[in-house]
Amino acid sequence: MEPILAIKAANVSKTFVLHNLGTRLPAVEDVSFSLPFGKCLAIDGPSGSGKSTLVRCLYGNCLPTAGSVSVFGENGFVDLVAAGPREIMELRKNTISHVSQFLRVIPRISALDIVAHPLIEKGLGKNEARRRAGTMLHELNIPERLFDLPPLTFSGGERQRVNIARGLIKESPVLLLDEPTASLDAPNKRIAVDLFLAAKKRGSAIVGIFHDRDVRDGVADWSLELPSKAFGPAKRNSSPPAVTL
Ligand code: ADP
Ligand code: MG
Repeated sequence: MEPILAIKAANVSKTFVLHNLGTRLPAVEDVSFSLPFGKCLAIDGPSGSGKSTLVRCLYGNCLPTAGSVSVFGENGFVDLVAAGPREIMELRKNTISHVSQFLRVIPRISALDIVAHPLIEKGLGKNEARRRAGTMLHELNIPERLFDLPPLTFSGGERQRVNIARGLIKESPVLLLDEPTASLDAPNKRIAVDLFLAAKKRGSAIVGIFHDRDVRDGVADWSLELPSKAFGPAKRNSSPPAVTL
């Protein structure tokens, strides 16, 4: 039986046009892959090769200039290039979570509330959402005395763990991870890897940019290497076969 696909990306390209400079900047060129649920694809490549841009195209944050991206949502595949804002918001509520490299800190909002928020958005009661957020923060080694504080004063590693907790709390079927462990020490990296593996085991599909080889090798089933500034087609290391949409 064919595996159930979570993401289908076909010939995705993104060129930024800097109007004020009259420059076109090709960031992603001709990337194709398909990813089943329960598997992880690592996006590799040097700095500036378009990894974050590609992941943002999978989140509907960045509109590809060419190609197509489909994500399997609650009612079947959603074409992110054609989808309107409502469909994108719906996908983000129920299907896709994105863990960015840096936590966007909002003054006065506590770590516990930041992590509980995605569950409350999905309709869970505030107390239960906060209880689960506390469990998640405990798992990620955040001391309880920090729960009620806004992460503004937290260390880089603490912020990153709050960010991971917020991204994983609702157990989304599709996880997009953009260097989620870059500022973590070894023990906390291992905890994060275990959480990513648990997500895979539950059936989540993961597309990850992993700063660390250890983390990548521990989590990823395949990798896709984006070429350095020379914008040839993406070189495939061991990625699943490309799809024709
Ligand atoms: P990576 O994550 O691999 O380091 P990025 O995807 O962040 O690379 O960036 C790829 C290229 O696209 C870079 O040259 C970067 O400057 C450019 N870029 C990214 N986002 C934008 C944007 N919003 N506007 C213009 N150029 C951008
Ligand atoms: Mg990046």
